[in-house]
Amino acid sequence: MPKNKPSKIYTEKYDLIVGLEIHIQTNTQSKMFCTCPAKYFQKEPNTQVCPVCLGLPDAPLPLVNKRAIELCILMGLGTNCNIENEIHFYRKHYSYPDLAKGYQISQYNNPLCSNGYVETVDGVRIDIERIHPEEDVAKSTHHTEKSSGKSYFLIDYNKSSVPLIEIVTKPCIRTPKDAKDFATEVRKIARYLNISEGDMEKGQMRCEPNISVQEKGKWEYKDGKIVPKGNYKLNPKIEVKNIGSITAVEKSIIYERERLIKCIEEGEEIIQQTRGWDADRNITVFQRSKEDAEDYNYTPDPDIPIIEVSSTDIERISEELIELSNEKIKRYIKDWDISKYAAEVISSTKENAYYFEKLQKQLSKELSEKEAALEASNWLMGTIFAIGNLNIDIADLTLLILAFKNGIITKNKGEEILKDSLENGKDIKKELEKIKEEKENVTDNLVEIVKDTIKNNSKAVNDYMGGKESTLGFLVGQVMQNTKGTANPNDVRETLINELKK
Ligand SMILES: [Zn+2]
Repeated sequence: MPKNKPSKIYTEKYDLIVGLEIHIQTNTQSKMFCTCPAKYFQKEPNTQVCPVCLGLPDAPLPLVNKRAIELCILMGLGTNCNIENEIHFYRKHYSYPDLAKGYQISQYNNPLCSNGYVETVDGVRIDIERIHPEEDVAKSTHHTEKSSGKSYFLIDYNKSSVPLIEIVTKPCIRTPKDAKDFATEVRKIARYLNISEGDMEKGQMRCEPNISVQEKGKWEYKDGKIVPKGNYKLNPKIEVKNIGSITAVEKSIIYERERLIKCIEEGEEIIQQTRGWDADRNITVFQRSKEDAEDYNYTPDPDIPIIEVSSTDIERISEELIELSNEKIKRYIKDWDISKYAAEVISSTKENAYYFEKLQKQLSKELSEKEAALEASNWLMGTIFAIGNLNIDIADLTLLILAFKNGIITKNKGEEILKDSLENGKDIKKELEKIKEEKENVTDNLVEIVKDTIKNNSKAVNDYMGGKESTLGFLVGQVMQNTKGTANPNDVRETLINELKK
């Protein structure tokens, strides 16, 4: 089993080199080149198809989905890419049962977006080589008949030609964690900008790392490429597919790193290959060896005209850009002194971040900006996220937090009220008013309640008078009980001491 800590031999002798390829299905209504619905999850197989996405001969010409292109540009803008002013679609030829036409419509030279970067939460910059639009392939499932042992493919074309964005990094990732963090960041950007849900379990996002290990000092990273020094021969790359979660991105790289180092140390030859991630066993397994330069015979697609992207188009699309989680984290820390951990958790989804910001704004009407942010952060991190529900009305939550700040309720009482409101639909505002009233009553009658308590606990009173000071705690507890926990313990203690002196 690979360990999370690199082996000593690794840190001394080898460097890890990773490039990541990410495919994201965009949130469009229809497919990339036809009007079939793009949402296929749990739909009857082969019910959302037409001659275009089935790749039938004599099918109508493909029509490019404008929104899919816009979302690809938006992804490019969100990741600091240059945007090309022309889109050239190519046919990428290969033979596979899930490929309807015998080619996939993709891009080749001059990808729509290029030379961008993303900063991970740890501030590591990951360079992006290219981002381009393309179409998804059909879904194929392999079956073996139990009785006869015969095996066959079933193909569902509902997924065929669903719009995809392909994101390719430069081979600049040096640790498994950076790869995981990059994938997380890309998914956050896709979600923040409504490009995609990026649900890996549903196949809306797929990550394929390219992994190699090289001897330390024998290579350099130059112009976005790994170049050997002197006569060093670079070790081949391994591509890992079938990764079903972001955690598995990290795990598969850790596994491959250890496996490759072991190969080299044992004098085994490494061949360039594609391996699949086996999530049950936490290992990669051999799938197929890869020819050095795969010949996809890219040819310009004669059915799709060159599409122009004007600066007005880019301007219009950039209006959809919003403050992303990384920028939020920086702002929360800088302006409000929020801890890095809290800032990361709060900004991990747009919904959380917006809720936090609204709450902070409401609270800052009564508290200072920083105090408001701190209280909002504490309540979200400590209570609201634990309850896992952002349906609590911001105005109500503000009242509750202010009641806590003003000593009217304890934090525990506040949490109790919140849960009661969510589970039993209790009105937070009314609950708080009730408590406030009771509290005022108690304050008015505290002397009477203390007097009664003294009268009814003569033994404890005598013990206290006799010098056993610890009994005071018991008496405070009794008074608290008689006020149903609404009194302020400090007030109770003070009043008790006063009364006992009389
Ligand atoms: Zn179709």
